Amino acid sequence: DLAVRLRGVTKTYETGVTALGPLDLAVKRGEFVALLGPSGCGKSTALRLIAGLSAPSSGTVEVNSHGAARRGSHPIGFVFQEPTLMPWASVRDNVRLPFKLAHAARNDADARIDEALDQVGLAEFASAYPRELSGGMKMRVSLARALVTDPDILLMDEPFAALDEITRFRLNNDLLSLWRNLHKTVIFVTHSVFESVYLSQRVIVMTARPGRIGTEFRITAAEP
Ligand code: ADP
Ligand code: ADP
Repeated sequence: DLAVRLRGVTKTYETGVTALGPLDLAVKRGEFVALLGPSGCGKSTALRLIAGLSAPSSGTVEVNSHGAARRGSHPIGFVFQEPTLMPWASVRDNVRLPFKLAHAARNDADARIDEALDQVGLAEFASAYPRELSGGMKMRVSLARALVTDPDILLMDEPFAALDEITRFRLNNDLLSLWRNLHKTVIFVTHSVFESVYLSQRVIVMTARPGRIGTEFRITAAEP
């Protein structure tokens, strides 16, 4: 029962840079997988392809056994390294953004927002503004925004890399609790060996091939 399946996926940008591939990857439903590798090895590119934010140059990307066309019915949550919050909007309205983007009038939106804020420990901060929050709290808002639509799959791109060690460790533990409670599939990009081993059930190591750094990669243990 696979959540994500990549077959022979490559990506060459218009600049001529080959960022990825060919990559074969299978992630089981409910699995927590870490993608570990040095900067430039194509981790972010792989996540963007899975999210459908970018199209592969060759190969196929399947999410919940569907190609790109059907992906809309299985929302994916995406968390970036930068929390990218709207400074003029309250925490509540920042978390509401995915509903606005989807133009989906949902009468359960407010309840979903409250639930997501509760899940990340920010129930009391719904009316606060981003400038009032610490870095860790902003990241929690970003996580709540990714969870609010109750996606099957959570893609996280070095989400905690800019945080101090203690805040980062707290967020690691809270993310693990969330994962155990919510049974989501998580694909977590990091270049921290500790974080990859601490968080995930399986670490997929993406290695830049010697002498071809930034162009070709060898993937180990990509099958569940
Ligand atoms: P990582 O996340 O492992 O650091 P990336 O996927 O961001 O790796 O980048 C892989 C390679 O692709 C790098 O050489 C990077 O410069 C290049 N790259 C990434 N995004 C783009 C883009 N939008 N256009 C051109 N080149 C890109
Ligand atoms: P986090 O680990 O989430 O980054 P911090 O270590 O920065 O949190 O802060 C610890 C706690 O202090 C937070 O969980 C929050 O309850 C409170 N706190 C932090 N910043 C503020 C703030 N600007 N206003 C009110 N309370 C705050």
